[in-house]
Amino acid sequence: MNLFDKLAGVFGKGTVMREKDSPAPSPQPVQADKAAQTAGDTWILPEKHREQLATLFETLVNPVNIHIFTQPGQNDQVNEFATAFCRDLSRISDKIVLHHALLDSEEAKKQGADFSPTLLLEPERYAIRYVGAPLAEEGRSFLEAVLMISRRDSGLAKESRELLSALNTRRLIKVFVSPTCPYCPSQVINAFKTAVERPGLIEAWCVDISQARQLADLHGVSSVPHTVINDQLTLMGLEPEQRFVAELATLRDAQSLIAALRRAPGERIEADLVILGSGPAGLTAGIYAGRAGLKTLVLEKNALGGQVSLTPVVENYPGYAQIAGVALMDITAAQARQYCEIVYEEPSAFETGPEGLTVKTATLEIRTKALLIATGATWKKIGVPGEIEFFGHGVNYCATCDGYLYKGRKVAVVGGGNTALTDALYLKNLGVDVTVIHRRDRFKAEQYLQDSVKRESIPLVMESQVEAIVGDKAVRGVRVKDAKTEEIREIAVDGVFVAIGETANTEPAIALGCELTKEGDIKVDERMRTSVPKVYAAGDVTGGGGARQIITAVGQGGLAAMKIFEDLSREKINTQ
Ligand SMILES: Cc1cc2nc3c(=O)[nH]c(=O)nc-3n(C[C@H](O)[C@H](O)[C@H](O)COP(=O)(O)OP(=O)(O)OC[C@H]3O[C@@H](n4cnc5c(N)ncnc54)[C@H](O)[C@@H]3O)c2cc1C
Repeated sequence: MNLFDKLAGVFGKGTVMREKDSPAPSPQPVQADKAAQTAGDTWILPEKHREQLATLFETLVNPVNIHIFTQPGQNDQVNEFATAFCRDLSRISDKIVLHHALLDSEEAKKQGADFSPTLLLEPERYAIRYVGAPLAEEGRSFLEAVLMISRRDSGLAKESRELLSALNTRRLIKVFVSPTCPYCPSQVINAFKTAVERPGLIEAWCVDISQARQLADLHGVSSVPHTVINDQLTLMGLEPEQRFVAELATLRDAQSLIAALRRAPGERIEADLVILGSGPAGLTAGIYAGRAGLKTLVLEKNALGGQVSLTPVVENYPGYAQIAGVALMDITAAQARQYCEIVYEEPSAFETGPEGLTVKTATLEIRTKALLIATGATWKKIGVPGEIEFFGHGVNYCATCDGYLYKGRKVAVVGGGNTALTDALYLKNLGVDVTVIHRRDRFKAEQYLQDSVKRESIPLVMESQVEAIVGDKAVRGVRVKDAKTEEIREIAVDGVFVAIGETANTEPAIALGCELTKEGDIKVDERMRTSVPKVYAAGDVTGGGGARQIITAVGQGGLAAMKIFEDLSREKINTQ
């Protein structure tokens, strides 16, 4: 846990949750430090945090002016907390200057502040604001923003800076967040970085949906992070920096951008190895294959870096005690690019023959000697009507991210494994009225989770299959069928959390006729070979050798490339 994480706690949460399945306490504004109070000098920050902040703020370069606007009678408790917190910061470092005004003041009108509390950071220079205090997880984005502003440097990658330098029209970015969402601060920082890079053109807001509910409803927010640009483009989830910047600059989403980035239509390419997927498995294989002298092409259908790019912090990758997922994959991709080419295309057809394989994409035809499938895994869907239609409008897959939206409301968790019961406990702890729906008569989850669910008196609907998710503009209920009586009934809920595990992305393997395991993963031997000659697989798509983790994906990717090299070399000798 780094300093930002530790300090995030002081914004209202005792501990900062990292694990996607771990329950967290609901955020409460912190109490003033009693020891400090008795000393006659009231601080809201405990002494150890003040010391850490003092060290951190030694790196401040330029002054940072924080303007806070409040209105008595509107969110009093949060106003008080936010003001006290900012006052503490300004007492720790004379580079932080606090200004306080009421919402009905001339200054508030000038700045367009109409929510209590609103915080502006260095408004004379940048357009960066928090609508609602930065509670819990957002403490991290707040401190990071203070440091970035003080440096007057966005810290954006070279490519992102280049893209933004061509921008000549205004952008207003609103990132909707919840205090318990671990992915949200990174998306907020994406937005703030662009506002620091192009002041005058880009304005970035962080909107806390637990405080500014009306604004969230206006934008139909039902999962976070939810980003709206110029009220025109809506982006769901945390995005890698370059993808976010490209979408911001072009006001087009990634899918349409990727189509525009394609190579010349109809181009024919010869390769030794084609790798599907640019996650840890695919990129590691690219490094090993390129270094072995194989002409290697990586095809990526979505964003570079796979699932890791969407993981806020990785703490179990050897060599890095803690690293942002995006940063880890940026480093890996930069290394991979030295040895192979990465193309944003996906296969549309395969042809196999004695000469090798042909991989066709929408615009390319690639003849290759071997193919490595490293397409990873995605959340499993229940596959019922309404699930896709209401995704982002009441259907969710990440309780830690989106649970807060349902505080005081009713949701169903679908599933019976560890993830489902952990999610149910987490939601219950947040104050959500949660019911678990499971198709079997018993849970697969570990006994201690089952005991906790019982102890918390979470209602269970067992032996019931979800038939449909129903609603109008958003989810209104789930239709379930009782396995014994076959009776169908509707349970009224505002949201559904699907928690039935992950599924391997096997479409290309199925198209090629590769054998799958009974769990639905690609079956491989010890050399990462599938049942189809010249086709190999690595990473989560194989089940990760029993653990879907970055290290197993990396290990399998490297191993596959070495075995491919050996197999191709042997073949070459045999044909000479
Ligand atoms: C929220 C979350 C947190 C996690 N935290 C951790 C952690 O802290 N530590 C850890 O070790 N692991 C963690 N994991 C697991 C880890 O991310 C995965 O095990 C790892 O990313 C697997 O790597 P991969 O290369 O096999 O697949 P992926 O990372 O899934 O990459 C697969 C890539 O293939 C692309 N693709 C899919 N289909 C096609 C196609 N047809 N053509 C071209 N490209 C395609 C995808 O777009 C994707 O980029 C986490 C996972 C999640 C979801």
